[in-house]
Amino acid sequence: MTPPSAEHLRKIVRAIAGNVKKQDFLTYFKKLSLLSYADGKVVFGVVSSFARDNLAHKFKHEIAEAVSGVLPEVESVEFSVDSDIDNPSNAAVIDCLKEYKEFFSLKKKEEEASVAKEEEEMGGINVRMMNEKYRLENFIVGPSNQLAYAAADAVSRRPGSAYNPLYIYGDVGLGKTHLLQGIGNTIKARFKDKKVIYTTADRFLTDYVNSIKKRTVDKMREKYRNIDVLVIDDVQFLAKKERTQEELYNIFNLMHESGRQIVLSGDRPPKELTEIEPRLKSRFEWGIIVDVGAPDFETRLAILQEKARSREFILPQEVAEFIAYNASSNVREIEGILNQIIAEYELHGKPPTLENVSSRFQKLGVTNDAIGNRNLQRRVARSYDELLDAVAGHFGIEKKTLVGEDRRKENMIPRQVAMYLLKNKMHFTYERIGNIFSGRNHSAILYSCRKLETVLKKDQNLYYEMNVIRDKLGL
Ligand code: ADP
Ligand code: MG
Repeated sequence: MTPPSAEHLRKIVRAIAGNVKKQDFLTYFKKLSLLSYADGKVVFGVVSSFARDNLAHKFKHEIAEAVSGVLPEVESVEFSVDSDIDNPSNAAVIDCLKEYKEFFSLKKKEEEASVAKEEEEMGGINVRMMNEKYRLENFIVGPSNQLAYAAADAVSRRPGSAYNPLYIYGDVGLGKTHLLQGIGNTIKARFKDKKVIYTTADRFLTDYVNSIKKRTVDKMREKYRNIDVLVIDDVQFLAKKERTQEELYNIFNLMHESGRQIVLSGDRPPKELTEIEPRLKSRFEWGIIVDVGAPDFETRLAILQEKARSREFILPQEVAEFIAYNASSNVREIEGILNQIIAEYELHGKPPTLENVSSRFQKLGVTNDAIGNRNLQRRVARSYDELLDAVAGHFGIEKKTLVGEDRRKENMIPRQVAMYLLKNKMHFTYERIGNIFSGRNHSAILYSCRKLETVLKKDQNLYYEMNVIRDKLGL
């Protein structure tokens, strides 16, 4: 048998790169060499016994799969430390990091090429503009967008025959793009054979201009002839672009005549679109026109909770209410605030407490009076009894257990939290705290507070829980 070449090895490493997590790959795969090859058994050389043990165990399946793809005749794979692996004259050593980078850059190029090919086939129409996260199921419905949602839902069930065209208008950040892409994604999922194109008026214009330059206008027209659903976002951007408007007018007629669905959005009703040809405007009015308005408090709250849920982020109810109450009606801005809160928690360990969030609002220059007022109105716990109630309530244990002697972990942590808050936020002396907690002595309380401090440094969730309690008590 001829031994495998460096090229074989390279292919194997790249196949593995595509199958294991980046962090793992960078940690365990440094260099790989070929030590021997005989009787269906291949022995790879690695840099250390650490790499050897890990490769042989952790990545057994990924490696076996990659090897069998490249060298089908191999029956078993082994690893051994190669003392010569760092010798520059050793020709068959593969630098895994280099292959890793190569693999991903090739993959990226392939993806770009396939998008380009698809676009080429579509006569220059950009085909991948929809974002899967915009779905009709995660669109929150309230009085401000109920009609728009109902129309979108109907169109996605019976494209071409419910309302044609569907025209949705409203101010920026109120969910038009979400609804339009939601319709596109839903139709694609429901009717596998239907061709759906989502584009923006802006992009439609660019594609059209490019096709003129490349002399592929006929090809572009031909493609629009073959699609089933055309979704065009932000048609107000077609203002003053007469030729593009004419192109769209023709496509519109063609599609409408043959009962194919058109969905449009704009920042105002068709009638008020300036510098758009009257005949095109009148087409926009043929079907149904619905608006999306500013969401009310309940809808804002529900949207915020849905966004937090989809990011797997826990937003305390009172904080969500605070944001929904104070934020503007632009949903994109509300999302922006949520993103910042998540980033502050993930990057700086700052939990989403009422205190942190309201100071963030102030930094953003949101000058809603309600913010200051709500902060000022926060009541402060007046007695230690109130604090004990809140802590016990938060952790779901009895107050007498909290102050008692039971040393189970589920009771210890709440107890330490209560002691810590009494000491650091209500400024009780250790003696006084000791008396509250079944007469424990000074040093026991001191020890508990210290202990909790070290736990808090490591356990962000506990830190965050404690802040929720503090907020509740105004501490
Ligand atoms: P528009 O196109 O009207 O400017 P978008 O559709 O881009 O607005 O909405 C801005 C952001 O707000 C998006 O991330 C969108 O998901 C979100 N959003 C707006 N309205 C809703 C809603 N009712 N339910 C869920 N998310 C919404
Ligand atoms: Mg939009």
